[in-house]
Amino acid sequence: CGIVGYIGHQDVKDILVKGLEKLEYRGYDSAGIAILNNEGLHIYKEQGRIAALREVIDWEQGASLGIGHTRWATHGKPSRRNSHPHTSTSGRFTVVHNGVIENYQELKEHDLSHVAFASDTDTEVIAHLMEHFVENGLRIEEAFRQVLLTIKGSYAIALLDSQDEDTIYVGKNKSPLLIGLGQDFHVIASDAMAMLSLTNQFVELMDEEMVILRRDNKTILNLHGDIMQRRPFQVKLDA
Ligand code: GLU
Repeated sequence: CGIVGYIGHQDVKDILVKGLEKLEYRGYDSAGIAILNNEGLHIYKEQGRIAALREVIDWEQGASLGIGHTRWATHGKPSRRNSHPHTSTSGRFTVVHNGVIENYQELKEHDLSHVAFASDTDTEVIAHLMEHFVENGLRIEEAFRQVLLTIKGSYAIALLDSQDEDTIYVGKNKSPLLIGLGQDFHVIASDAMAMLSLTNQFVELMDEEMVILRRDNKTILNLHGDIMQRRPFQVKLDA
């Protein structure tokens, strides 16, 4: 399973799909991407091989930010319906996630008892919680931090707000996730290999950290809201 993301100026679909192909070795049963442009959010997902995902993508649809996922099902059988990305009820928040949300059942029964779920995954609670906190008046950044404080378990998360074409929200706990740095762009990847064709400069995220990722800057925060400084490292490929 794996996660990729890109926010920059190039067309994102090919970057995401090629990145996912580089993560195929990790194993997966479904794959999907979400891209955002001025016409809104577009989600493409399919059970099975990335070749099957390629078939359903509208390659005419341009966008300069997006997130992608290969799923290894832990909660909910492999199916298109359970494939990531997953979206909140209004369609505003869209998430990809690797890992396991251990308290998802509890959250479904309590905080999210008003929500009609569209999948059998643990992951879907993330999108709905985000919407729940924003409806309760929290700013997006703060809502995202609250989501990470509320969920228990392991996660690498990338989240899009369909009202904001300039930001990707990233969270990490006990699942690998890196941010790659470029000239006027950033990438997200479970493994640097997925994005080495674009950059070899990466920063590692620690557990219980989040990132506000924009084209030309990034802010890494811990879950107390403190800004974290992190030096990039260079990934060298042995030929
Ligand atoms: N637990 C999530 C699911 O079953 C994510 C699995 C993964 O890491 O791919 O959908």
